[in-house]
Amino acid sequence: MAPPPAALPPLLPVLPVLPALAALLAALPAAPAARAAPRSIAVVGAGLGGSAAAYFLQQHFGPQVQLDVYEAAGVGGRLATVTVNKQQYESRGASIHALSLHMQDFVKILGLKHRREVAGKSAIFSGEHFVLEETDWYLLNLFRLWWHYGISFLRLQMWVEEVMEKFMRIYKYQAHGYAFSSLEELLRSLGGEAFVNMTQRSVAESLLEVGVTQRFVDDVIAAVLRSSYGQSVLVPAFAGAMSLAGAQGSTWAVEGGNKLVCSGLLKLTKANVISARVTGISLHSSEGRALYQVHYESPEGQGSAFYDLVVVTTPLHPSRSNFTFDNFDPPIADFPAAFQPSVTSVVHGYLNSSYFGFPDPKLFPFTSILTTDTPDLFFHAMDNICPVNISAAFRRKQPQEAAVWRVLSQQPLDKPQLKTLFRSYYSVQVTERQAHPRYDAAKALPPVVLHENLFYLSGVEWVASSMEMIAVAAKNVALLAYNRWHQDLEKIDQKDLMHKVKTEL
Ligand SMILES: Cc1cc2nc3c(=O)[nH]c(=O)nc-3n(C[C@H](O)[C@H](O)[C@H](O)COP(=O)(O)OP(=O)(O)OC[C@H]3O[C@@H](n4cnc5c(N)ncnc54)[C@H](O)[C@@H]3O)c2cc1C
Repeated sequence: MAPPPAALPPLLPVLPVLPALAALLAALPAAPAARAAPRSIAVVGAGLGGSAAAYFLQQHFGPQVQLDVYEAAGVGGRLATVTVNKQQYESRGASIHALSLHMQDFVKILGLKHRREVAGKSAIFSGEHFVLEETDWYLLNLFRLWWHYGISFLRLQMWVEEVMEKFMRIYKYQAHGYAFSSLEELLRSLGGEAFVNMTQRSVAESLLEVGVTQRFVDDVIAAVLRSSYGQSVLVPAFAGAMSLAGAQGSTWAVEGGNKLVCSGLLKLTKANVISARVTGISLHSSEGRALYQVHYESPEGQGSAFYDLVVVTTPLHPSRSNFTFDNFDPPIADFPAAFQPSVTSVVHGYLNSSYFGFPDPKLFPFTSILTTDTPDLFFHAMDNICPVNISAAFRRKQPQEAAVWRVLSQQPLDKPQLKTLFRSYYSVQVTERQAHPRYDAAKALPPVVLHENLFYLSGVEWVASSMEMIAVAAKNVALLAYNRWHQDLEKIDQKDLMHKVKTEL
């Protein structure tokens, strides 16, 4: 970068060259205008998206910017725990893929730790019997997969690896400061038009095309998607690939609870967390630039405040929020989309192993039960879960002992259903949530830029819904906001980025 003029040696014959220099500068493309940082930024929502956005925005704009984070319920959002017998358990977002580099980074920056892994075996249940059972022997597991499904599992692995390898490019782009003003542009930069198309066609279709058998799709792929998204194999291919990557590779979680990442990032940024529900945003202007008025309501009453830049990190569509945008021309429309209801029941009790074909509970070997897409099967998956703090001495309960199980279902479990799964139980804690987008209703992807300096982060869930996707979107929004603010257009929506980042210093 050129030194500022004040650093020029005073004896240089500056004056005679000035007209020529002025003419040359006029002919050059305009350099990014030096502009003061925004005075104040608002982030709506303090889930992982809001916390990560606050952190990245501060990283780029600097600590002098006033940063307000509005949260209607509790910091962490969909990352939450429930308490059973004085121990906390993850009730929602539970496991993180090993290659989630932003999440890994957060844990490192915040001085958090990975939770100790406690081994357990999985099986897939059809409602009548197990269609696939994991054993302690790796080779036997491979043999069983081959015996039932031929080389489908290898084809799946290759397909997922190819998607993940391309997806990992995002970290390079982001490290070089590149941002994308739409989800389509982001996907295109990673995997070309094929990645964009992966949001519009089903995972089943994509897998059948690469030679995975229908039986493998029906038994294994369906089970993984039911347990992760509570949906069928009609989930779009990109979202499906992310979920299947999590099921294949090693995963981890944060000691003490994944939600600690959210509270940690907000504490680190010293963001001003305001306990209030944002009801709308209206557009004003001051000195020729956009100013956003954020309206909110809290137990103390209604209020509003003005910001130069706003990031919305809570899903905006009719079934989720009463959120109005005023004075925008053209108006900001609702995004026609729906969320999939999901019920998590954390049950402390004795498993009814007979229901699964094991009359002797001592012999029940599984800690995680996935299910096939069978009519009348009333749950999607259940796991024997470990607390968020795992001491070195911790051991799993024996199958005949009372344990804590997390059951995922579409509808709340009624008494007969609970009695089907459990011989008896001490407690049941139910969380009902709009958990993930309903992918079969997906159409176009939502926008990232709602207005000049007004951004929407949560639309990325229509590409895939996971902690790392949200973190990637948070970094993208922060970079995009920064690059747009400083009009550094060369860092937005650039083509051929793989080549560019290779040749950049
Ligand atoms: C049951 C379940 C299991 C999951 N399992 C996994 C998993 O194993 N691995 C994984 O990677 N991901 C998983 N996920 C997904 C993951 O939890 C989410 O992708 C992620 O937590 C979403 O973060 P977010 O900040 O975008 O949204 P949220 O966490 O929903 O945060 C949005 C926040 O905005 C607040 N808010 C809403 N409206 C307003 C308003 N008007 N004003 C102010 N604040 C508002 C909400 O209270 C909330 O705190 C799971 C999700 C669920 C529900």
